[in-house]
Amino acid sequence: MLRSEAGFCQLVLDDGRVVTARLLKGMKSGPRETTTLAVIGDRVRVATRGASAVIEEVCERSNELSRQAPGRPALRDVLAANLDVLLLVQSTRNPDFNSARLDRFLAIAEQAGVPPVVVLNKIDLVGAEEVARVAGEYVTIGYRVITSSVKQGVGIEEVREALHGLAALVGPSGAGKSSLLNAIKPGFRLRTADVSEATSKGRHTTVASELLALTPDTYVADTPGLRSIALTGVPPEDLDWLFPEFRPFARECRFGNCLHQQETGCAVLEALASGAISQSRYAGYRHLLEEALEQDRTQYG
Ligand code: GDP
Ligand code: ZN
Repeated sequence: MLRSEAGFCQLVLDDGRVVTARLLKGMKSGPRETTTLAVIGDRVRVATRGASAVIEEVCERSNELSRQAPGRPALRDVLAANLDVLLLVQSTRNPDFNSARLDRFLAIAEQAGVPPVVVLNKIDLVGAEEVARVAGEYVTIGYRVITSSVKQGVGIEEVREALHGLAALVGPSGAGKSSLLNAIKPGFRLRTADVSEATSKGRHTTVASELLALTPDTYVADTPGLRSIALTGVPPEDLDWLFPEFRPFARECRFGNCLHQQETGCAVLEALASGAISQSRYAGYRHLLEEALEQDRTQYG
């Protein structure tokens, strides 16, 4: 599905034709916990009659990016489905690199099951040592990191290669998402500014979500709200699993539902003390843990 707006969906059929379709009335898809049934990236089964098409079924998704529906805490807003790659674009400066923010995005990608690629942009603004240190930390964990400077034309080819299939770029405003895409395809316009968020107060967002063709076989998701993707519904005791380098240690603590805060004999804390887990990643974990515990309290407390 290419585009959705106010109940109408634009689809590419197997034969390449683009049609506009409506959802079949009364279509069900299991327990209703999301705000919309079909989202961009979805594969659907349609019945066509002349120029009109009806979506009869949304196929099972390989992954989905979601956020908590604004004003409706029990519902999730799925923003895009079946993504092949999630580019986590961060800048060294303007805005400053923030490891807790990157750790949050990485955890979201881990939970969603979308392969992440870290892009550290604006490397022209800091020394090579700092770039190597920041990138090295994530490379050590096993993540792919591309260092780039749109200004100097560095790393653009790597970003182009990392983008394939259905892709989405997320990261703080000003990190350089539009600039990177523009360097790959001049004139490419990503509408990431969430104007609708500010004005609609989350009731009915009528702004379209769409997939924009970057190359003949690469689409980029342009979805209002992609900036507010969030980690929701992760039980505090499962959060460690979203930090891959914690897993071998977390496994040892598992029997006691250890949250790795101050428990005696905690293998994660031992790994932190020995340097096998970095201070900054542990801080990123604690940030998210606080939020997960808070979500638990408001939901059940
Ligand atoms: P977005 O909000 O993530 O889409 O960020 P933009 O692409 O709009 O970029 C924000 C600002 O950063 C713009 O003024 C760009 O010209 C600038 N910018 C983007 N990439 C670089 C870079 O590699 N180096 C420097 N110095 N500035 C950059
Ligand atoms: Zn532990």
